[in-house]
Amino acid sequence: MRNLRWRHALGASPWFRFHGDDAAPELVAESISLTWTLLSVAIALLLGQAVIGFLVGRNSLADLALLVATALLVASAVLNARASAMLVERRHSEAESFGRLLQALSRSVSPNAVIKAIVHELGTATRADHVAVVQKRPGGNVLNVSFVSMQPGSQTATSVMPIQQLGPVEKRKLRLTPRSDSGAALDRVGLDRVDGGSDGAAEVARSRARQPQGSGVPDPAHEGDARELANQIANRLRDAYGLRNMLAAPLIEGGSVVGAIVLSRRTNEPWTDSSVRLLNGAAGETTAALARVYSHQAAEAEARTDQLTGLPNRRYFDEYCTLVASRRRASDRSAILAVDVDHFKRVNDMYGHHIGDQVLRAIGDAIQTSVRDEDVPARYGGEEFIVLLRNPTAGVALEVGERIRQTVRDTDLIDAGVTDRVTVSIGVACGHSADESISEIVERADRALYAAKRTGRDRVVEAWPSEG
Ligand code: GH3
Ligand code: MG
Ligand code: MG
Repeated sequence: MRNLRWRHALGASPWFRFHGDDAAPELVAESISLTWTLLSVAIALLLGQAVIGFLVGRNSLADLALLVATALLVASAVLNARASAMLVERRHSEAESFGRLLQALSRSVSPNAVIKAIVHELGTATRADHVAVVQKRPGGNVLNVSFVSMQPGSQTATSVMPIQQLGPVEKRKLRLTPRSDSGAALDRVGLDRVDGGSDGAAEVARSRARQPQGSGVPDPAHEGDARELANQIANRLRDAYGLRNMLAAPLIEGGSVVGAIVLSRRTNEPWTDSSVRLLNGAAGETTAALARVYSHQAAEAEARTDQLTGLPNRRYFDEYCTLVASRRRASDRSAILAVDVDHFKRVNDMYGHHIGDQVLRAIGDAIQTSVRDEDVPARYGGEEFIVLLRNPTAGVALEVGERIRQTVRDTDLIDAGVTDRVTVSIGVACGHSADESISEIVERADRALYAAKRTGRDRVVEAWPSEG
């Protein structure tokens, strides 16, 4: 049995056969201890021979040289062992940093949390002085820059960078090579080191790195494009923030460069291969994490949006009111406008349901354009809309209501084939104390709305406080 283990150990030893990364850890340990045993035996034999030589008085110059060579052999073996241990330790801490980064990213549920996780883990592991995450948001037409100094207590500085300054970031498509299923393939992913030296030339530090999960790998022929764009981004940051020694990696999504992560140092201390590998892996993971967060946010937004008018729906409105109520201060006041289309059934009957939908969409637009930025309009259901006004001054609620009524009345529906004027009735209720709940205000606005209907429609009626 023991023989068998030694045979395994011999087989695993790099002297006899190269196993690479797939050797079991215990076999590697046995190989190491075998090499040390063999080395010790060899040294003991050499020393023994030298000592016997001395004892029998046959010590020559050659014996002395042998003794010195043996001492050098021992010293070099010890140095080699220490250097190997340091290398293993470094690899180990790199793997641990990457593991922590993955864990932090998997917990991040917002773009800001993703950036925070990246900055913290990457900045600490690479001993960078600054970390910048530059990214183009889905549907956005600028690059958002989050720039963080690693000094304790420093705030994140955010700014935007026009895409035009960087050339065709969006237009440039990078062809992708399929990912190896085993995940063991080593892809050559280039990273540029950009020095802020006097000649301003970019020095390229390349690294072999294991392909990070969940990101596209640029074809080597197009890899230069991605590097070039990451460099352009780094150079912009250098100009804007006065950076010096930088290391940049592109963020690649769906074959396009959508940003970059840029590390910088105040000193000229060169970046280690380990830092390059970590940044490279982090860039891939960041893209995947951001894509996950954005798609989650998009799904959430869709669940809270009315598909016909594009306004927030009742679910969003109710959630928003709950949020407002929970954060309400004693001095806060709210007002509600309840809006209902007049004789809408007739519109449907005369022009058809499809045209009725177009009319509802036009009314939604009219309401949206008539309210202030701080007001929250929503489609409450059917042909009813609602608007929450935050802290309206006296008269503002009625004013906004009147503006909605007039804008709807003036809306030209000829394109939809509707020749009749379409109007709305509006009930307005203002909160009179911080204790009054928003649902109570909605009830009063509803009663005012029906008063508007009773008294002839196409009008704005304010609820009296006594009605509550
Ligand atoms: P009033 O002035 O009293 O409010 O009369 P009205 O006809 O507007 O009120 P009623 O409640 O009798 O009818 C509302 C109509 O709105 C009936 C319903 O078919 C129509 N409606 C509700 N939702 C939609 C929708 O999404 N699209 C279309 N086209 N019609 C809708
Ligand atoms: Mg109605
Ligand atoms: Mg109606």
